[in-house]
Amino acid sequence: MQLSQRLMGINGGGSDGWDVFLKARRMIAAGTPVTELTIGEHDIRTAAPILQEMHSKALAGNTGYAAIPGSEPLRETVAARVQARTGVPTKPGNVLITPGGQSALFSAHIAACDAGDTALYIDPYYATYPGTLRAAGAVPQVITTRASDAFQPRASDIAAHSAGARSLLINSPNNPTGVVYSRATLEGIAEVCCRDDLWLISDEVYDTQVWEGSHISPRSLPGMAGRTLVVGSLSKSHAMTGSRCGWLVGPEEAISNLINLATNTTYGVPGFIQDAGLYALTRGTEFEEEIAAPFRRRRALAQQVLAGQNTVALVPAQGAMYLMLDIRATGLSGEEFAYSLLDAHHIAVMPGESFGRSAAGHIRVAMTVADDAFEVSLKKLCAHAEALAV
Ligand code: PMP
Repeated sequence: MQLSQRLMGINGGGSDGWDVFLKARRMIAAGTPVTELTIGEHDIRTAAPILQEMHSKALAGNTGYAAIPGSEPLRETVAARVQARTGVPTKPGNVLITPGGQSALFSAHIAACDAGDTALYIDPYYATYPGTLRAAGAVPQVITTRASDAFQPRASDIAAHSAGARSLLINSPNNPTGVVYSRATLEGIAEVCCRDDLWLISDEVYDTQVWEGSHISPRSLPGMAGRTLVVGSLSKSHAMTGSRCGWLVGPEEAISNLINLATNTTYGVPGFIQDAGLYALTRGTEFEEEIAAPFRRRRALAQQVLAGQNTVALVPAQGAMYLMLDIRATGLSGEEFAYSLLDAHHIAVMPGESFGRSAAGHIRVAMTVADDAFEVSLKKLCAHAEALAV
Protein backbone atom coordinates (compact mmCIF):
# COMPACT_ATOMS: atom_id res chain seq x y z
CA MET A 1 0.00 0.00 0.00
CA GLN A 2 1.17 3.47 -0.78
CA LEU A 3 2.09 5.62 2.19
CA SER A 4 1.28 9.31 2.32
CA GLN A 5 3.67 11.89 0.95
CA ARG A 6 3.44 13.72 4.26
CA LEU A 7 4.77 10.70 6.15
CA MET A 8 7.38 9.73 3.58
CA GLY A 9 8.54 13.32 3.20
CA ILE A 10 9.20 14.01 6.89
CA ASN A 11 12.97 13.58 6.57
CA GLY A 12 13.08 15.56 3.35
CA GLY A 13 14.85 12.78 1.46
CA GLY A 14 18.32 13.45 2.90
CA SER A 15 20.31 11.90 5.72
CA ASP A 16 18.77 12.66 9.11
CA GLY A 17 22.22 13.56 10.47
CA TRP A 18 22.47 10.70 12.94
CA ASP A 19 24.96 8.52 10.98
CA VAL A 20 27.98 9.08 13.25
CA PHE A 21 25.82 8.50 16.32
CA LEU A 22 24.47 5.25 14.84
CA LYS A 23 27.97 4.05 13.94
CA ALA A 24 29.05 4.69 17.55
CA ARG A 25 26.05 2.72 18.80
CA ARG A 26 26.97 -0.19 16.49
CA MET A 27 30.56 -0.14 17.82
CA ILE A 28 29.24 -0.24 21.39
CA ALA A 29 26.89 -3.12 20.54
CA ALA A 30 29.88 -5.00 19.07
CA GLY A 31 31.81 -4.57 22.36
CA THR A 32 34.00 -1.50 21.61
CA PRO A 33 33.75 1.12 24.37
CA VAL A 34 32.95 4.55 22.94
CA THR A 35 32.77 7.87 24.81
CA GLU A 36 29.50 9.33 23.60
CA LEU A 37 29.39 13.11 23.45
CA THR A 38 26.45 13.01 21.08
CA ILE A 39 22.96 13.24 22.49
CA GLY A 40 21.53 15.89 24.78
CA GLU A 41 20.78 13.77 27.75
CA HIS A 42 22.08 14.18 31.30
CA ASP A 43 24.49 11.56 32.61
CA ILE A 44 22.58 11.85 35.90
CA ARG A 45 19.12 10.26 35.87
CA THR A 46 15.83 11.70 37.14
CA ALA A 47 16.14 12.40 40.89
CA ALA A 48 14.75 9.67 43.16
CA PRO A 49 12.23 11.90 45.00
CA ILE A 50 10.61 12.81 41.66
CA LEU A 51 10.31 9.12 40.81
CA GLN A 52 8.93 8.40 44.28
CA GLU A 53 6.26 11.04 43.72
CA MET A 54 5.42 9.47 40.36
CA HIS A 55 5.21 6.03 41.95
CA SER A 56 3.10 7.07 44.91
CA LYS A 57 0.67 9.07 42.76
CA ALA A 58 0.31 6.10 40.39
CA LEU A 59 -0.26 3.73 43.34
CA ALA A 60 -2.81 6.15 44.74
CA GLY A 61 -4.82 5.74 41.55
CA ASN A 62 -3.86 8.57 39.18
CA THR A 63 -3.56 6.10 36.33
CA GLY A 64 -6.77 6.88 34.43
CA TYR A 65 -7.22 9.38 31.61
CA ALA A 66 -5.86 12.70 32.78
CA ALA A 67 -7.10 16.23 32.07
CA ILE A 68 -6.15 16.80 28.43
CA PRO A 69 -4.88 20.38 28.64
CA GLY A 70 -3.00 19.36 31.78
CA SER A 71 -4.04 19.25 35.42
CA GLU A 72 -5.12 22.60 36.83
CA PRO A 73 -2.35 22.69 39.49
CA LEU A 74 0.32 21.97 36.89
CA ARG A 75 -1.04 24.57 34.45
CA GLU A 76 -1.18 27.08 37.31
CA THR A 77 2.38 26.31 38.37
CA VAL A 78 3.75 26.56 34.83
CA ALA A 79 1.84 29.84 34.32
CA ALA A 80 3.21 31.27 37.58
CA ARG A 81 6.72 30.14 36.68
CA VAL A 82 6.58 31.73 33.22
CA GLN A 83 5.13 34.94 34.66
CA ALA A 84 7.81 35.10 37.35
CA ARG A 85 10.64 34.48 34.88
CA THR A 86 9.44 36.80 32.11
CA GLY A 87 7.15 39.37 33.70
CA VAL A 88 4.41 38.59 31.14
CA PRO A 89 0.97 38.06 32.75
CA THR A 90 0.29 34.34 32.30
CA LYS A 91 -2.76 32.32 33.39
CA PRO A 92 -3.49 28.58 33.33
CA GLY A 93 -5.52 29.26 30.17
CA ASN A 94 -2.28 30.28 28.44
CA VAL A 95 -0.73 26.86 29.13
CA LEU A 96 -1.13 23.52 27.38
CA ILE A 97 0.71 20.59 28.97
CA THR A 98 2.20 18.38 26.24
CA PRO A 99 4.16 15.11 25.97
CA GLY A 100 7.50 16.94 25.95
CA GLY A 101 8.70 20.00 24.12
CA GLN A 102 8.73 18.01 20.88
CA SER A 103 4.95 17.69 20.92
CA ALA A 104 4.66 21.40 21.79
CA LEU A 105 6.79 22.24 18.72
CA PHE A 106 4.45 20.24 16.50
CA SER A 107 1.32 21.72 18.12
CA ALA A 108 2.67 25.26 17.72
CA HIS A 109 3.18 24.77 13.98
CA ILE A 110 -0.28 23.25 13.58
CA ALA A 111 -1.63 26.38 15.30
CA ALA A 112 0.39 28.76 13.14
CA CYS A 113 0.45 27.16 9.69
CA ASP A 114 -1.98 25.72 7.21
CA ALA A 115 -0.85 22.97 4.82
CA GLY A 116 1.64 24.41 2.36
CA ASP A 117 2.38 27.55 4.38
CA THR A 118 6.00 28.63 4.72
CA ALA A 119 7.49 28.13 8.18
CA LEU A 120 10.87 29.76 8.82
CA TYR A 121 13.56 28.27 11.03
CA ILE A 122 17.14 29.15 11.84
CA ASP A 123 20.23 27.17 10.80
CA PRO A 124 22.01 25.65 12.76
CA TYR A 125 18.95 23.96 14.19
CA TYR A 126 17.89 21.15 16.49
CA ALA A 127 17.80 18.08 14.27
CA THR A 128 14.03 17.47 14.39
CA TYR A 129 12.99 20.97 13.30
CA PRO A 130 12.58 20.58 9.53
CA GLY A 131 10.88 17.20 10.01
CA THR A 132 8.51 18.62 12.60
CA LEU A 133 7.56 21.46 10.27
CA ARG A 134 6.93 19.04 7.41
CA ALA A 135 4.96 16.68 9.68
CA ALA A 136 2.72 19.64 10.52
CA GLY A 137 2.14 20.20 6.79
CA ALA A 138 4.25 23.36 6.53
CA VAL A 139 7.00 24.04 4.01
CA PRO A 140 10.25 24.69 5.92
CA GLN A 141 12.38 27.62 4.81
CA VAL A 142 15.77 27.83 6.41
CA ILE A 143 17.50 31.08 7.42
CA THR A 144 21.26 30.70 7.58
CA THR A 145 23.47 32.33 10.18
CA ARG A 146 27.21 32.92 10.22
CA ALA A 147 29.94 31.53 12.45
CA SER A 148 31.45 35.03 12.30
CA ASP A 149 28.28 36.39 13.99
CA ALA A 150 28.53 33.63 16.64
CA PHE A 151 25.40 32.23 14.95
CA GLN A 152 23.16 35.09 16.14
CA PRO A 153 20.57 35.48 13.36
CA ARG A 154 20.42 38.77 11.48
CA ALA A 155 17.00 40.38 11.19
CA SER A 156 17.85 41.33 7.58
CA ASP A 157 18.38 37.64 6.68
CA ILE A 158 15.01 36.75 8.23
CA ALA A 159 13.33 39.68 6.48
CA ALA A 160 14.63 38.39 3.14
CA HIS A 161 12.32 35.36 3.52
CA SER A 162 9.51 36.58 5.75
CA ALA A 163 7.06 38.06 3.25
CA GLY A 164 4.21 35.56 2.95
CA ALA A 165 5.61 33.21 5.62
CA ARG A 166 3.42 32.32 8.61
CA SER A 167 5.85 31.50 11.38
CA LEU A 168 9.42 31.75 12.56
CA LEU A 169 10.94 29.15 14.88
CA ILE A 170 13.85 30.24 17.08
CA ASN A 171 15.74 28.50 19.86
CA SER A 172 17.66 30.30 22.59
CA PRO A 173 19.66 29.08 24.49
CA ASN A 174 20.48 27.24 21.30
CA ASN A 175 21.00 23.63 20.47
CA PRO A 176 23.50 22.96 18.86
CA THR A 177 25.56 26.14 19.35
CA GLY A 178 24.94 27.04 23.01
CA VAL A 179 24.44 30.65 21.89
CA VAL A 180 21.98 32.77 23.88
CA TYR A 181 20.32 35.37 21.67
CA SER A 182 21.06 38.93 22.68
CA ARG A 183 18.38 41.54 23.32
CA ALA A 184 19.38 43.23 20.03
CA THR A 185 18.94 39.95 18.12
CA LEU A 186 15.54 39.32 19.72
CA GLU A 187 14.37 42.89 19.13
CA GLY A 188 15.32 42.58 15.47
CA ILE A 189 13.39 39.30 15.26
CA ALA A 190 10.36 40.83 17.00
CA GLU A 191 10.35 43.74 14.57
CA VAL A 192 10.26 41.42 11.55
CA CYS A 193 7.51 39.29 13.14
CA CYS A 194 5.33 42.34 13.83
CA ARG A 195 5.94 43.90 10.42
CA ASP A 196 5.28 40.72 8.41
CA ASP A 197 2.62 39.31 10.76
CA LEU A 198 4.47 36.12 11.71
CA TRP A 199 3.86 33.80 14.61
CA LEU A 200 7.07 33.49 16.62
CA ILE A 201 7.61 30.00 17.98
CA SER A 202 10.23 30.30 20.70
CA ASP A 203 11.83 27.06 21.86
CA GLU A 204 13.10 27.80 25.36
CA VAL A 205 13.71 24.28 26.66
CA TYR A 206 17.25 25.24 27.77
CA ASP A 207 16.18 28.35 29.69
CA THR A 208 17.64 27.07 32.97
CA GLN A 209 21.06 26.46 31.39
CA VAL A 210 22.51 29.93 31.04
CA TRP A 211 26.17 30.31 32.01
CA GLU A 212 26.71 33.97 31.15
CA GLY A 213 24.34 36.90 30.73
CA SER A 214 20.62 36.21 30.84
CA HIS A 215 17.91 34.56 28.83
CA ILE A 216 15.23 36.85 27.44
CA SER A 217 11.93 35.32 26.38
CA PRO A 218 10.79 37.19 23.24
CA ARG A 219 7.19 36.86 24.47
CA SER A 220 8.12 39.67 26.88
CA LEU A 221 9.03 42.14 24.10
CA PRO A 222 6.50 44.85 23.12
CA GLY A 223 3.73 43.56 20.85
CA MET A 224 4.89 39.94 21.04
CA ALA A 225 2.69 38.21 23.67
CA GLY A 226 -0.20 37.92 21.19
CA ARG A 227 1.91 36.30 18.48
CA THR A 228 4.41 34.17 20.43
CA LEU A 229 4.12 30.49 21.29
CA VAL A 230 6.73 29.40 23.83
CA VAL A 231 7.90 25.79 23.98
CA GLY A 232 9.00 24.58 27.42
CA SER A 233 9.88 21.24 28.94
CA LEU A 234 11.01 19.48 32.09
CA SER A 235 13.38 17.32 30.04
CA LYS A 236 16.47 19.50 30.37
CA SER A 237 15.68 21.63 33.43
CA HIS A 238 14.76 18.68 35.65
CA ALA A 239 16.55 15.74 33.97
CA MET A 240 13.18 14.22 33.01
CA THR A 241 13.76 13.45 29.32
CA GLY A 242 11.99 10.10 29.44
CA SER A 243 8.95 11.38 31.32
CA ARG A 244 7.71 13.36 28.30
CA CYS A 245 6.34 16.38 30.10
CA GLY A 246 6.47 19.81 28.51
CA TRP A 247 4.25 22.73 27.61
CA LEU A 248 3.23 25.35 25.15
CA VAL A 249 2.50 28.85 26.40
CA GLY A 250 0.65 31.34 24.21
CA PRO A 251 -2.49 33.40 23.69
CA GLU A 252 -5.57 31.87 25.32
CA GLU A 253 -7.37 31.50 21.98
CA ALA A 254 -4.51 29.46 20.51
CA ILE A 255 -4.25 27.26 23.60
CA SER A 256 -8.00 26.60 23.88
CA ASN A 257 -8.14 25.57 20.22
CA LEU A 258 -5.03 23.41 20.57
CA ILE A 259 -6.89 21.37 23.19
CA ASN A 260 -8.83 19.98 20.17
CA LEU A 261 -5.54 18.85 18.63
CA ALA A 262 -4.46 17.16 21.86
CA THR A 263 -7.86 15.47 22.23
CA ASN A 264 -7.54 14.02 18.76
CA THR A 265 -3.87 13.06 18.89
CA THR A 266 -2.04 12.54 22.19
CA TYR A 267 -5.02 12.60 24.57
CA GLY A 268 -2.81 14.37 27.07
CA VAL A 269 0.00 13.41 29.42
CA PRO A 270 -0.36 10.61 32.03
CA GLY A 271 -1.64 11.96 35.36
CA PHE A 272 1.12 10.47 37.51
CA ILE A 273 3.73 12.04 35.21
CA GLN A 274 2.03 15.41 35.56
CA ASP A 275 2.02 14.95 39.36
CA ALA A 276 5.74 14.21 39.29
CA GLY A 277 6.28 17.24 37.03
CA LEU A 278 4.35 19.44 39.45
CA TYR A 279 6.43 18.13 42.34
CA ALA A 280 9.64 18.72 40.35
CA LEU A 281 8.67 22.34 39.66
CA THR A 282 7.83 23.00 43.29
CA ARG A 283 11.40 22.05 44.27
CA GLY A 284 12.44 25.49 43.08
CA THR A 285 15.37 27.08 41.34
CA GLU A 286 18.00 25.61 43.67
CA PHE A 287 17.16 22.16 42.37
CA GLU A 288 17.27 23.41 38.77
CA GLU A 289 20.71 24.88 39.43
CA GLU A 290 21.82 21.50 40.80
CA ILE A 291 20.70 19.82 37.56
CA ALA A 292 22.52 22.45 35.48
CA ALA A 293 25.70 22.46 37.63
CA PRO A 294 27.59 19.63 35.86
CA PHE A 295 27.29 21.41 32.51
CA ARG A 296 28.39 24.73 34.00
CA ARG A 297 31.43 22.95 35.50
CA ARG A 298 32.32 21.08 32.31
CA ARG A 299 32.04 24.23 30.22
CA ALA A 300 34.63 25.88 32.48
CA LEU A 301 36.79 22.75 32.16
CA ALA A 302 36.52 22.91 28.36
CA GLN A 303 37.49 26.58 28.33
CA GLN A 304 40.68 25.64 30.22
CA VAL A 305 41.53 22.70 27.95
CA LEU A 306 40.91 24.70 24.78
CA ALA A 307 42.95 27.66 26.01
CA GLY A 308 46.06 25.49 25.72
CA GLN A 309 45.94 25.11 21.92
CA ASN A 310 45.18 26.99 18.71
CA THR A 311 43.61 24.47 16.35
CA VAL A 312 40.12 24.03 17.79
CA ALA A 313 38.10 27.19 18.45
CA LEU A 314 35.18 27.34 20.84
CA VAL A 315 32.18 29.22 19.47
CA PRO A 316 31.46 32.02 21.97
CA ALA A 317 28.34 30.70 23.66
CA GLN A 318 26.53 31.36 26.89
CA GLY A 319 24.24 28.40 27.55
CA ALA A 320 22.92 24.85 27.02
CA MET A 321 24.64 21.50 27.53
CA TYR A 322 26.70 21.66 24.32
CA LEU A 323 29.90 23.13 22.95
CA MET A 324 30.21 24.03 19.30
CA LEU A 325 33.80 23.66 18.16
CA ASP A 326 35.24 25.11 14.98
CA ILE A 327 37.60 22.48 13.50
CA ARG A 328 38.09 24.13 10.08
CA ALA A 329 41.84 24.47 10.77
CA THR A 330 42.10 20.68 10.29
CA GLY A 331 40.96 20.99 6.68
CA LEU A 332 38.22 18.44 7.32
CA SER A 333 34.46 18.83 7.28
CA GLY A 334 32.68 18.32 10.58
CA GLU A 335 31.50 14.94 9.36
CA GLU A 336 34.98 13.80 8.27
CA PHE A 337 36.43 14.96 11.57
CA ALA A 338 33.71 13.19 13.59
CA TYR A 339 34.30 9.91 11.75
CA SER A 340 38.08 10.15 12.10
CA LEU A 341 37.80 10.92 15.83
CA LEU A 342 35.46 7.97 16.29
CA ASP A 343 37.78 5.63 14.39
CA ALA A 344 41.02 6.83 15.99
CA HIS A 345 39.94 7.51 19.59
CA HIS A 346 36.48 5.97 20.01
CA ILE A 347 34.99 9.35 20.85
CA ALA A 348 31.62 10.18 19.27
CA VAL A 349 30.59 13.78 18.57
CA MET A 350 27.96 15.23 16.24
CA PRO A 351 29.10 16.78 12.94
CA GLY A 352 28.02 20.42 12.65
CA GLU A 353 26.52 19.49 9.27
CA SER A 354 23.91 17.39 11.15
CA PHE A 355 22.40 20.71 12.22
CA GLY A 356 22.43 22.47 8.87
CA ARG A 357 24.85 24.21 6.55
CA SER A 358 25.78 27.14 8.76
CA ALA A 359 27.71 24.89 11.14
CA ALA A 360 29.73 23.11 8.45
CA GLY A 361 33.32 22.61 9.59
CA HIS A 362 32.19 22.47 13.20
CA ILE A 363 31.36 19.69 15.63
CA ARG A 364 28.92 19.67 18.53
CA VAL A 365 30.14 18.19 21.78
CA ALA A 366 27.50 17.28 24.37
CA MET A 367 28.88 17.79 27.88
CA THR A 368 27.13 14.68 29.07
CA VAL A 369 29.82 12.42 30.52
CA ALA A 370 31.54 12.57 33.93
CA ASP A 371 34.05 15.42 34.34
CA ASP A 372 37.22 13.28 34.24
CA ALA A 373 36.15 11.36 31.12
CA PHE A 374 35.01 14.63 29.56
CA GLU A 375 38.38 16.29 30.14
CA VAL A 376 40.33 13.30 28.82
CA SER A 377 38.13 13.16 25.70
CA LEU A 378 38.52 16.87 25.00
CA LYS A 379 42.30 16.63 25.31
CA LYS A 380 42.33 13.71 22.87
CA LEU A 381 40.03 15.63 20.54
CA CYS A 382 42.38 18.63 20.53
CA ALA A 383 45.46 16.43 20.00
CA HIS A 384 43.68 14.70 17.12
CA ALA A 385 42.85 18.07 15.53
CA GLU A 386 46.41 19.32 16.00
CA ALA A 387 47.82 16.20 14.34
CA LEU A 388 45.50 16.70 11.38
CA ALA A 389 46.28 20.39 11.04
CA VAL A 390 50.06 20.00 10.55
N1 PMP B 1 14.02 21.59 21.51
C1 PMP B 1 15.34 21.45 21.56
C2 PMP B 1 16.20 22.58 21.10
C3 PMP B 1 15.91 20.25 22.00
O1 PMP B 1 17.23 20.12 22.04
C4 PMP B 1 15.04 19.20 22.40
C5 PMP B 1 15.56 17.86 22.86
N2 PMP B 1 16.85 17.54 22.62
C6 PMP B 1 13.66 19.42 22.34
C7 PMP B 1 13.18 20.63 21.89
C8 PMP B 1 12.66 18.39 22.71
O2 PMP B 1 12.76 18.04 24.04
P1 PMP B 1 11.64 17.23 24.80
O3 PMP B 1 10.63 16.75 23.80
O4 PMP B 1 12.35 16.11 25.49
O5 PMP B 1 11.06 18.21 25.75
